[in-house]
Amino acid sequence: MVARVPRSRLRAVNSEFGAVATAASGAARPSAAVIGGGPGGLMAAEVLARAGASVTVYEHMPSMGRKFLIAGRGGLNITHSEPLEQFMTRYGDKQNALAQSVSAFPPESVQAWCESLSQKTFVGSSGRIFPLGFRATELLRSWLVDLETLGVSLQTSHRWLGWDQATGALLVAADEKNSDPIQPQQLFPDITIMSLGGGSWQRTGSDGRWVPKFEEMGINVHKLRPANSGFLVDWTAEFITKFEGMPVKNVSVQARGNPVRGEMMITADGIEGGCVYAVGRELRAACDAQGNTVMLIDLRPDLRVEQVEQRLSTAKPKESTSTLLRRTIGLPPVAIGLLREATKNVLPRQAFDMAVLIKSLPLQVVATEELDRAISTAGGVAFEELDDRFMLHRLPGVFVAGEMIDWEAPTGGYLLQATLSTAVAAANGALSWWEEEHPTEM
Ligand SMILES: Cc1cc2nc3c(=O)[nH]c(=O)nc-3n(C[C@H](O)[C@H](O)[C@H](O)COP(=O)(O)OP(=O)(O)OC[C@H]3O[C@@H](n4cnc5c(N)ncnc54)[C@H](O)[C@@H]3O)c2cc1C
Repeated sequence: MVARVPRSRLRAVNSEFGAVATAASGAARPSAAVIGGGPGGLMAAEVLARAGASVTVYEHMPSMGRKFLIAGRGGLNITHSEPLEQFMTRYGDKQNALAQSVSAFPPESVQAWCESLSQKTFVGSSGRIFPLGFRATELLRSWLVDLETLGVSLQTSHRWLGWDQATGALLVAADEKNSDPIQPQQLFPDITIMSLGGGSWQRTGSDGRWVPKFEEMGINVHKLRPANSGFLVDWTAEFITKFEGMPVKNVSVQARGNPVRGEMMITADGIEGGCVYAVGRELRAACDAQGNTVMLIDLRPDLRVEQVEQRLSTAKPKESTSTLLRRTIGLPPVAIGLLREATKNVLPRQAFDMAVLIKSLPLQVVATEELDRAISTAGGVAFEELDDRFMLHRLPGVFVAGEMIDWEAPTGGYLLQATLSTAVAAANGALSWWEEEHPTEM
């Protein structure tokens, strides 16, 4: 448990990955409670511990970093190699709010940090950056060993329950097997970092149950919404029987913004996949505003309308439409199925009309998938609630990091990058705040 520790000199630390504050020599060691053992919490703990703080991480699951491990299952995309200016645009209207933290701990620092844990990184053909081992398992294992070596106390099965209204203490309870949590303990750390994650994949521990606790303290939290999630489509039984689980490769999709190329997947109740996620913010906003919206799919993004028309004009006598579409422009059955689905099986007869349809097939989406199935979460603690050190205006000494803050980004390494950058910023912010608060101890 976090307790005030005897005065001793803070170690002046310059971490090998370069963005850790140098704590003032002569100050007492602050005690720090980090709530949440995901990558945000663990990174904050590392920065604080390297600066000499006495750190305890409280995680309510039986092990740390469960979502981080899930993220690594299909390849842990830790960041992206594109130029920082372009990189920041991925955070949309939150790019300014994140600019300082991401430029202080940019993609190169994430790579250097990874390599400091003996996990060399490589840049994939799409510019995405991965650890050589591809998965998160080794990285997390080395990270936890490193944290313990730094003296961080890792408390699993410890649940944060909120703040005590009378004393302002953090309420943390250890889970007892097969029973309710025991009576919570009241903790008074010098510094608190909250990194409780979003609300998707609840089985990893990120259950969003922190939201009402923050709201009780008067903190504005924007509703948690699915991001990088699928969308629901009212498929006909005939279509879904044939095409569920099939990828539609090399398409370009468009909501209200720019078209995005990639692959999408047909699911039992809708669509998902990289290019769908990339236009998800616009689709979600349109669904919220209108109840449903139309996504345009270009089934042959490499050909212009005239080229498609010209090829379709070479129909042979008695050739079926499906054969024509396959022979002349290489459309696979699932793409032809989409054309039939969108037109209620009344395909245009004229080559030009068919070409226009192929280049901008309207697909009606009716809603986002449920939050739990999303890769990440939009919404969270409003930036107006935070100062530029990521400290809550209403709760001095309490800092917030990671996905629980109101930003979102597409897949591509941008999620972990912002999580780690905000964690470094919150921890450094906490150290500088604490030094200011204790001038006589320095
Ligand atoms: C399938 C999938 C694939 C992904 N792939 C990638 C990828 O390749 N690249 C990428 O950049 N991102 C990826 N992500 C997203 C990435 O994993 C998250 O953005 C990241 O984990 C957020 O880190 P965090 O520390 O903010 O939150 P989390 O990782 O959610 O950690 C929060 C922690 O807080 C704990 N907690 C919650 N409430 C309490 C409480 N009351 N008391 C104590 N502890 C509590 C939770 O158990 C959890 O361990 C993926 C996500 C998923 C689901």
